[in-house]
Amino acid sequence: MQTPFSDDSYEDRPLRRFIGRNLALLAFLALSTAGMLAAYFYFSPSSGVAEVVAAGSLEGALTAPFVKPVPAKPVTQRLAQSPAPVRFGVISGHKGNDSGSVCEDGLTEAQVNEDIAVRVIAQLQTHGIATDLLDEFDPRLANYAATGLVSIHADSCDYINDQATGFKVAGSGLTDSSQLSICVEGAYRQATQMNYHAHTITHDMLDYHAFREIAPGVPGIIIEVGFLNLDRQILTTQPDLLAGAIADGILCYVDQVRVGVRYAPSAGAAP
Ligand SMILES: [Zn+2]
Repeated sequence: MQTPFSDDSYEDRPLRRFIGRNLALLAFLALSTAGMLAAYFYFSPSSGVAEVVAAGSLEGALTAPFVKPVPAKPVTQRLAQSPAPVRFGVISGHKGNDSGSVCEDGLTEAQVNEDIAVRVIAQLQTHGIATDLLDEFDPRLANYAATGLVSIHADSCDYINDQATGFKVAGSGLTDSSQLSICVEGAYRQATQMNYHAHTITHDMLDYHAFREIAPGVPGIIIEVGFLNLDRQILTTQPDLLAGAIADGILCYVDQVRVGVRYAPSAGAAP
């Protein structure tokens, strides 16, 4: 008698027949499933680690710093920085300290200096330049930071000789002030037609105290606007002309500074 599972009935079992016919395909599916499971379990973190990583609190494990350290290196700016606001200091010579040279009739150098200095300040302000009118020993001079400094003085009221007429300009020996000197000297000479009196520039002018007080890098000049004796007329009757000339010289320098900032080679801009 035949049993239902005898070999003779093999051809009659649909499942066995199906397996028999698709053995290669089934073997491939089984192997690939096993491979995928192996890969899945091989790369899965052990339980617990996954939760901690998800919570972001496991030190060292599968974490990376959010901020990548970058070594410091100089930054080369492609575009120039906008220039610092232009600011000029004007010292009214002897103001707040002494009268300077005094004439027989009582006219003082400090008075003449201040008449000119306040007008220089006013002129600069009409050109939108921030200004500081400073005393001779103004406390603000300590480490004073500005585009530049000009100190206004006048020469002796004593009669020395017929050559004791004219003006002179001396620049700080600590910070290159030649551009400012050249600008003010040229503008003053042109506007006043006065002589440049270079050979009476004294050690006091070159080693002027304010040059040592202001911040390093701030150019400074001292101008002796004329002699109170032989140049008295222009000094006392045309302060507007003299002040306008000094202001023009300062503006000439400010223009150079602005151009210099815009086209500084170190800023990487086109020349
Ligand atoms: Zn003086």
